[in-house]
Amino acid sequence: MNYSCPSTDIDIQVFPASYLLARKHFQHKVEKLTLPTQTASYSCPGTTPDGEALTTDTVWIGDSDASKVVVLISATHGIEGFAGSAIEIDFLNLLGSGQISLPQNTAVLLIHALTPWGYAWHRRCDEDGVDINRNLLDFSRPLPENIGYDLLRPTFFWADAQQRKKVCAEFAQQHGREALEKAISAGQYNDPSGPFYGGKVPAHGRLVTEQLMREYNLQDRDLAVIDLHTGLGSYGYGEIICDHQPDSAGTRVAHAWYGDSVTLPLLGTSSSVPKTGLLDYAWHAIMSERSCYITLEFGTFSTDQLFEVLLRDHQIWAHETDLPTRLAQAKSMRHHFCPNDQAWQEMVLFRARQVISQAIHGVSS
Ligand SMILES: [Zn+2]
Repeated sequence: MNYSCPSTDIDIQVFPASYLLARKHFQHKVEKLTLPTQTASYSCPGTTPDGEALTTDTVWIGDSDASKVVVLISATHGIEGFAGSAIEIDFLNLLGSGQISLPQNTAVLLIHALTPWGYAWHRRCDEDGVDINRNLLDFSRPLPENIGYDLLRPTFFWADAQQRKKVCAEFAQQHGREALEKAISAGQYNDPSGPFYGGKVPAHGRLVTEQLMREYNLQDRDLAVIDLHTGLGSYGYGEIICDHQPDSAGTRVAHAWYGDSVTLPLLGTSSSVPKTGLLDYAWHAIMSERSCYITLEFGTFSTDQLFEVLLRDHQIWAHETDLPTRLAQAKSMRHHFCPNDQAWQEMVLFRARQVISQAIHGVSS
């Protein structure tokens, strides 16, 4: 794997202050490119807290006939877009300055703010409480059950965090740590006010994804998809999570492109447990044997802290309507999903450059 990765000029100024500023910055960088581009915007229901419109913006960079495509997705989980936008804007800077160049046969598709509502309101979900990364199911069929979630649901909404932690620890002791993590985060389809709710109909981000696939005939090209996430795993490290089946072409391709740092939830080697309705599955369904989809997940604080901040978020949005309480919670969310720490932000940018460079090299070779 002899990819080349730009390692200078890492500038955390690319981390945006808000969804709207990120959008502006992204569009501005795209306009300045001298490469051929095609842009599209997809409006999303709802508004920002200031009443502004919400949009997912996309840009195709490079030859429209390219047989290989690197796809970068930001804000699949709204709030995680702070780091996702930074990575996309940093990539546009590198492309604009010639520090990264695209091979002849390769184009890039940037998807900016797949869940803009959650980004603007500092939440993971969309306006309907839906986690798009649990939403990729055939809704005409019976929905998966999550018995652990149903069992623990009343506890999740207790105000007393100590009591809640005690019950969760007992559940983990009885059924195992993985069973607890699955109960909370594998996905659930009965409780719109709770976390990791997958919804009952296709969400905005899924519809946009499916439209882009049709628009650019993505099923006919080789794809390197990188879905950018934060909030799970070791502080500052970007884990390459592969949710392809362990013995599949997708997993073989991921190992060939990204090496030994690839982890698989299905083999228990990842910080992530297996989940239902992942966005991955829409892409897996159209992928050639020379393609793969990875989640690039940047860790921040512990998994228990992640669950705590999310449970609190869902409690507040279910029961507290006053703006100051919600804004205070938004701050905690921002702190968990995009720490205001130069070192963390630099680690994110460098690791992202590394993985994107590996993807370009891998898919184009
Ligand atoms: Zn995420």
